[in-house]
Amino acid sequence: DLVSAVAAQIGAVIEKRRAIEERFLMQKRFEELLSSLTVGVFKISLSEDGRFVEANQALSSMLEAPSLAEMTRHRITEFCAEGQGFKKCVETVLAQGFVRNEVVEFITLKDRRIWCSISAALKKDPSGAVYIEGMIEDVTERKRLEAQLLHSQKMEAVGRLAGGVAHDFNNILTAIIGYGNLLLMKEDDDTLRSYAGQILMLSERASTLTQGLLSFGRKRETRLEPADLNGVVRWVDKILRRVIGEDIELKTSLEEAEMNVMADIPQIEQVMMNLATNARDAMPGGGALTIETKAEEIGDEYIAAHGYGEKGKYAILAFSDTGAGMDEETRRRIFEPFFTTKEAGKGTGLGLSIVYGIVKEHRGFIDVYSEPGQGTTFRIYIPIAGAPPALIEREKAEAPRGGTETILLAEDEEEVRKIARTVLEEYGYRVIEARDGEEAVEKFGAEKDSIDLVILDMVMPRKGGSEAHEEIKRMRPGVKALFTSGYSIEIMTAKGVLGEGANFISKPLTPAEMLKKVREVLDA
Ligand code: ADP
Ligand code: MG
Repeated sequence: DLVSAVAAQIGAVIEKRRAIEERFLMQKRFEELLSSLTVGVFKISLSEDGRFVEANQALSSMLEAPSLAEMTRHRITEFCAEGQGFKKCVETVLAQGFVRNEVVEFITLKDRRIWCSISAALKKDPSGAVYIEGMIEDVTERKRLEAQLLHSQKMEAVGRLAGGVAHDFNNILTAIIGYGNLLLMKEDDDTLRSYAGQILMLSERASTLTQGLLSFGRKRETRLEPADLNGVVRWVDKILRRVIGEDIELKTSLEEAEMNVMADIPQIEQVMMNLATNARDAMPGGGALTIETKAEEIGDEYIAAHGYGEKGKYAILAFSDTGAGMDEETRRRIFEPFFTTKEAGKGTGLGLSIVYGIVKEHRGFIDVYSEPGQGTTFRIYIPIAGAPPALIEREKAEAPRGGTETILLAEDEEEVRKIARTVLEEYGYRVIEARDGEEAVEKFGAEKDSIDLVILDMVMPRKGGSEAHEEIKRMRPGVKALFTSGYSIEIMTAKGVLGEGANFISKPLTPAEMLKKVREVLDA
């Protein structure tokens, strides 16, 4: 009958409606799923030059489009970085029907470069239109971490290699220098003696390089002792001021709280000297160098952002200059031994390698920010020591004692002489300079009664340290002497180079060590 026929019809309509609703809901759920994915999903039309006909929210945010609608107005080629990466990707899809995890570089609408991994397949619809469908994952962070790991592995390997080579090389140098000295002692012919002098001078230079390599390869002993980092900075600061010259303004800003770290103070000084020297070289026309200390806690966020570091409290020592800065290519290589952009004779390329080795030995790490023309900031992180300040003996961090004695300083390398003189004068001493052994003897002769100590470089032109010392002793027996050399301790203790019981300090001279040794010799 009619009623049941109508009822059946209504039932059919309701049923149909329910099915439509069901489909609609399913589609909605599917869309929600797509839009909540963190990987980008896309469909591009090859008949429309690679326009995004479909995209999900993740893709739109990844490529920094203002909206999903906006996203579908762009073509994929607009995002491709220069190079063959993406083109090859499309060729592969066309040739074999799909690609898997192909990594290409994209540039977002906000001009940011990102690395993307693409998996996609070729699709044809019944009308014959050709599409590529697939997904894109942002792997920039992963790639960065990989690069970082690779870099630290490379540094590790280079360090081990450098240390090993330096060690063998040091042994060879010991022999060369031993024979050179024998020649110098036994030979009367002045020409031959001057040749021997040259050999020794060059060997000293080689030895300085070797020592740099040894400390980069961490073959040199590090003695970590409790120290207040601010204390070290406070007094090295005075010396740096002179090192960097008048054209560069030096500003310091120190963390108020004490920063107790476990440190090898002479090595920290070395780090500061190397960073300051580089900053000076980067600002030939003057500028400003800012030295800052700060306590900071490092958490997961920092580690995720940088790809290195360990959680904990750190003392930060930052050096910022307003100099030439560096490009990415340079910045990547600065810690490699012998990497230098300076002209021959000006840079050894070891300064930052040494810094790297030292910081690593302190269980710290280094951040570098630099851009061409924008200056450079080096940030050294050193873990803050756990012990409460009261329990930490901090005398080492305090400025060393000076004096008012008169010191004759014989050193042929101008830069070294200048720094040594600066440090000594800064601490109250009167300094007489000599550029070589012969001048040392002359100057001693002129003022022999007022000189309390002679500091003699072992290897100098015209007359070496030991020889000059012999002549000076003849003028005044018992005069106090302190020898310096770029030779390593091993070489110096090899027989024939230095008399027994002589006072010796090896280069590079760090201010604290030198002042301490000078006081020691004067007070003996
Ligand atoms: P060197 O100073 O002998 O060249 P380093 O290891 O100290 O060796 O430095 C390596 C290179 O790093 C330098 O040649 C320079 O290109 C770059 N560099 C280091 N510090 C700075 C800085 N503050 N500003 C600009 N470039 C720097
Ligand atoms: Mg340097």
